[in-house]
Amino acid sequence: MPRRTQTVQEEERQASRRDQNEEASDLSKRLLDRWLCVKDTCINHKAFCFVDYGAKHFSMDTTIRETWAKAISRGQATIERPPESLYNFWHQRGTVDKVSKAPLAKASREAREQAKEARMERLLEMQERAQEAAFEQEIQSQISALSVPIGNSQPAPASTPAIYPPYPSWIQAPQSF
Ligand SMILES: [Zn+2]
Repeated sequence: MPRRTQTVQEEERQASRRDQNEEASDLSKRLLDRWLCVKDTCINHKAFCFVDYGAKHFSMDTTIRETWAKAISRGQATIERPPESLYNFWHQRGTVDKVSKAPLAKASREAREQAKEARMERLLEMQERAQEAAFEQEIQSQISALSVPIGNSQPAPASTPAIYPPYPSWIQAPQSF
């Protein structure tokens, strides 16, 4: 292939890329103009939201805008209507306020969990201590029950009958007479 043709082709490619880029950045600008969030109660107010038919706001970051712009240049979307894929993405992720509140909700949920765990631990600890105390008391009372007869009372009186010594051998038993 002659060098000149190559150069021309390369120039054409570059030109077409430039056109595409220009088109994309133009589309991006038009998207920004169209979807500036003007709802002052929206978290994204003065930033950019796609607002659907249900008046729900979905955040538009640079990546989303570029995706949308590309879809427009492919004829799969318009400035008014995002491509199907973005629409699905937004509905999966949730509205703008849902997304930005999610981390807070998560944090407070975690804090609650931690507090609950701490309470639970204290409770268990108290229970353990109570159990230990009860156990100790039981042992103590068993010990004192055992030691009462030994320590506190006199030795039991001998209940066995007295054993009389046998007659001395020089005393003859009466029967022997
Ligand atoms: Zn908004």
